[in-house]
Amino acid sequence: MLGRCLGDRRVRQIQRALRHGKVTLLCLFMTILVLRGTIGAGKFGTPEQDFNEIRHHLSFRKRSEPHRVLEEAETNIQNNQAVAKPNEEDEEDETPPDPNKPYSLGPKISDWDEQRSKWLNQNPNFPNFIGPGKPRVLLVTGSSPKACENPVGDHYLLKSIKNKIDYCRLHGIEIFYNMALLDAEMAGFWAKLPLIRKLLLSHPEVEFLWWMDSDAMFTDMAFELPWDRYKDQNLVMHGWNEMVYDQKNWIGLNTGSFLLRNCQWSLDLLDVWAPMGPKGKIRDEAGKLLTRELKDRPVFEADDQSAMVYLLATQRDKWGDKVYLESAYYLHGYWGILVDRYEEMIENYHPGLGDHRWPLVTHFVGCKPCGKFGDYSVERCLKQMDRAFNFGDNQILQMYGFTHKSLVSRRVKRIRNDTGNPLEVKDELGLLHPAFKAVKASSS
Ligand code: UDP
Ligand code: MN
Repeated sequence: MLGRCLGDRRVRQIQRALRHGKVTLLCLFMTILVLRGTIGAGKFGTPEQDFNEIRHHLSFRKRSEPHRVLEEAETNIQNNQAVAKPNEEDEEDETPPDPNKPYSLGPKISDWDEQRSKWLNQNPNFPNFIGPGKPRVLLVTGSSPKACENPVGDHYLLKSIKNKIDYCRLHGIEIFYNMALLDAEMAGFWAKLPLIRKLLLSHPEVEFLWWMDSDAMFTDMAFELPWDRYKDQNLVMHGWNEMVYDQKNWIGLNTGSFLLRNCQWSLDLLDVWAPMGPKGKIRDEAGKLLTRELKDRPVFEADDQSAMVYLLATQRDKWGDKVYLESAYYLHGYWGILVDRYEEMIENYHPGLGDHRWPLVTHFVGCKPCGKFGDYSVERCLKQMDRAFNFGDNQILQMYGFTHKSLVSRRVKRIRNDTGNPLEVKDELGLLHPAFKAVKASSS
């Protein structure tokens, strides 16, 4: 009986899979068409002097290589590797949003500063500053609840979160990894907005929330953010004032790594940032407006980065004085101009600089290692993500007396022999001994 039931169920599953297969093939075909016609949603952010290079990359981005990824996926199936497939029941449960209902991130809150300061007074054990001038920071990142379409993508998500855990541990920063889509309408790059709002309201003890994309990695483990510089600022993003406010360039800032202060101002900003996000007609129409209004923006649906450029450029009076567009170091660094220079950096510089000499963050904009279709060749992206990971990981391993054999090798070699006095190890690279670093973070 049980066998029969399972059998019927299996047949239904196969029928459904075939139905889905047809739709998937159609979607696949459409996606290839769209990708060929547009450039996709990757976003850069580099100094203006890097512009020529960017132009080269922009044209390079059009050459996505979906066939090769598909071949890889097929080979995996042939090799009997488990290939993740979506839970169809989950997919079917989604009810489409009502397009006539104006979008809102949640009930309007207008006295958050009072509510929060009252909470902070009542909870002195959870101070929002953990040392003089050192705010309590929560780094937030995440990825889709689904397994990666390209199975190797999950391995890169693991590397990326390991990398962030290392940086955060060294700098006394808390970390939150999100895999839940809190609001079905805000899928994709918009998912961070409802999440950020929820976390700000649930963690009054957190002074700054640091959003970081899953495809961004720390490449300077020693660089501490210049917190003093931001003491009167509420939003810190990598970017340039002229490119955002004067040129309205869609890559004048980057939303892959930014700081947002936990205050009423930020809730208000999220409220005006979100309305272009709901997927479907709203996001598509907003995309047309953004392409029309912003410099050099390709044709595609509204994205959070373009929406932020548009918001700041059109409402500078309202928001500008609390927004710091940082370009003195790489709070976000576009991978295309950094990854080929790692050896040169190792030769000439040292961690702790954060800028072009030793970038704090390398962000793999447009790579989509978890999806099937990125803007760049998968091989190039994955190889360079390995190099960035190992570049950052060397700074961790070196504290323990090891280093990667090369930037493309996962194997390691010893750089110090163990002695009978393990606590007397001096760190040649200027990074503090892990034990000391932990004490410093909690006492400073
Ligand atoms: N993301 C997420 N859930 C999703 C899809 C994306 O949390 O379902 C996050 C993820 O951290 C990702 C970020 O949104 O890195 C932005 O997307 P992506 O990095 O692919 O955009 P790009 O930087 O290439 O423009
Ligand atoms: Mn990204």
